[in-house]
Amino acid sequence: MRLRNKPWATDFIASHPNVVIPNPEEHIGKWQAVFGNDNPLHIEVGTGKGQFVTGMALQNPDINYIGIELYDSVMVCALEKAIAANTPANLRLLKVNGADLLTYFEKGDVAQVYLNFSDPWPKVRHAKRRLTHEGFLKLYESILVDEGEVHFKTDNRGLFEYSLMSISAYGMLLKDVSLDLHVNMPVDNVMTEYEERFSAKGQPIYRLEAKFQT
Ligand code: SAM
Repeated sequence: MRLRNKPWATDFIASHPNVVIPNPEEHIGKWQAVFGNDNPLHIEVGTGKGQFVTGMALQNPDINYIGIELYDSVMVCALEKAIAANTPANLRLLKVNGADLLTYFEKGDVAQVYLNFSDPWPKVRHAKRRLTHEGFLKLYESILVDEGEVHFKTDNRGLFEYSLMSISAYGMLLKDVSLDLHVNMPVDNVMTEYEERFSAKGQPIYRLEAKFQT
């Protein structure tokens, strides 16, 4: 997702270092100090406008959340959402590329990774950019606790099928798979902006939970 250029976004983000962490590489291995507690840390790669990560932070005050987004123009919406929710103490945002996770996190820093409605990159030559490609799975494994989990939701059947195969081939254990999440919507499901949009059109939402094996 890339929104219309917002020239003010970069300054607005920089003026909220309490939410969008500047120089996040300085906190590698020390994220507990940022949050002031040793609660588990869950991250969402490709946060978009932030409804999911903010909703999860409000719903689960004993878990710390970091939303990661590539673009200022999108991150600024997530920042506004966090501010509108009174800036939950357990929520931070990083304006960085998920491909660089190892710059910001080390083994054991993260307890869970969320991927929601990730860009599908349908062309085979772009497969490495899919957030469930083997290369990304390796990154997640490198920063997660032992037996850490990846939770993934999408409306895109092709990306979901690819992800099931990629995750299985990597040797991860599939814990839960849903081909229509909203039929029996879990009570604790927090919808993303894309999830609201696609489910309103009647499209099924696919979801999986997978964990790395030691
Ligand atoms: N998760 C949101 C939702 O479900 O509403 C947004 C989905 S949108 C299709 C995907 C988002 O992931 C975009 O905002 C895009 O900028 C971001 N994104 C894609 N690749 C990324 C990467 N490598 N690192 C960080 N963000 C990324």
